[in-house]
Amino acid sequence: MKPRAEKVCPVCHRPFQWRRRWARCWDDVRYCSRRCRRHRTSEGVQNDPHPQTDSG
Ligand SMILES: [Zn+2]
Repeated sequence: MKPRAEKVCPVCHRPFQWRRRWARCWDDVRYCSRRCRRHRTSEGVQNDPHPQTDSG
């Protein structure tokens, strides 16, 4: 029986407890949810979603 594990999400700074879905990857889990996990991906990217269009 493992002790109750708890981690703190670096994105929302909220403590989250071990979940059954993380039983196999708990050691690699760093975010409380996938939403927070994506929040950390591709940071510092400067891409213009709206390219300038030449008019006239
Ligand atoms: Zn979070």
